[in-house]
Amino acid sequence: MVNYKDLGLVNTREMFKRAVAGGYAIPAFNFNTMEQMQAIVMAAVETKSPVIMQVSKGARNYANGTILRNLAKGAVEYAKELGCEHPEIVLHLDHGDSFELCKECIDNGFSSVMIDGSSLPYEENIALAKKVVEYAHQFDVTVEAELGVLAGVEDEVSSAESHYTKPEEVIDFSTRTGCDSLAISIGTSHGAHKFTPEQCTLVNGVLVPPPLAFDILHEIEKKLPGFPIVLHGSSSVPMEEVNTINKYGGHLEAAIGIPEEQLREASKSAVCKINIDSDSRLAMTAAIRKHLAEHPGDFDPRQYLKPARENMKKMYIHKIVNVLGSNGKL
Ligand SMILES: [Zn+2]
Repeated sequence: MVNYKDLGLVNTREMFKRAVAGGYAIPAFNFNTMEQMQAIVMAAVETKSPVIMQVSKGARNYANGTILRNLAKGAVEYAKELGCEHPEIVLHLDHGDSFELCKECIDNGFSSVMIDGSSLPYEENIALAKKVVEYAHQFDVTVEAELGVLAGVEDEVSSAESHYTKPEEVIDFSTRTGCDSLAISIGTSHGAHKFTPEQCTLVNGVLVPPPLAFDILHEIEKKLPGFPIVLHGSSSVPMEEVNTINKYGGHLEAAIGIPEEQLREASKSAVCKINIDSDSRLAMTAAIRKHLAEHPGDFDPRQYLKPARENMKKMYIHKIVNVLGSNGKL
């Protein structure tokens, strides 16, 4: 048994309380490589932001859970080395799909877990989330649960269509599960292809997706005043990175994300955690493709991973400062 407190990590409780009260959101960046971890820590330290480093089931399969936990431990020490005396870093399991997986993570140094029973019938979702909460809270680990279904594909999580969260269910759900935060569905979706061009309107040559359902968000806020709300699938899919990828031999078609203005607006509400994964993948791939195209003789991974890390760091800083507003909140 490894407790997260021994690794210098924190859970989300205090962080979320401050974020809801302060009208900003904490960045939740997915990671599965050392370079992503370094870029996240550099960005968080430079902007003095709390940060959630999250790991999906797919990331654990790719990089090994023990290695990822030690990367998170290393992240805390690295942040201190970079001059941040009291870093606030959460190691979070993204989309845990069973009690066993959540327990394994809690027993191995995670400070927060998500139990995603959103595809289950309502009562089964409650029963599963409640079981995870009861176990997690014994170790002061915080739990995110989900109500409503997001469309899109992310690692092993996929759904053809979305179902918005029903505001009339949120009080019953959060009370009976005892969850610490609630992921909701209001029109965001997983992956880099969130919308088809047919779903969008063309404004000044740019495809603009349908707006997020702020009416539902506001209804949920009214039912659960001050309760931490989480948005998944919130990458913006910057055209700049998509264009770089396509310019240097890539083939990404109709990649469309959530406009940053809408995320900025959501951050000011009870939304206190915003998940960003695809944008990091795009920033990394764009920099690697560009570097290798311009330096065809390079074969040392450090030569192309260094610009990739720089590009991710730039993107993380941009999100923290210009979209989430969590800079200076340590
Ligand atoms: Zn998600």
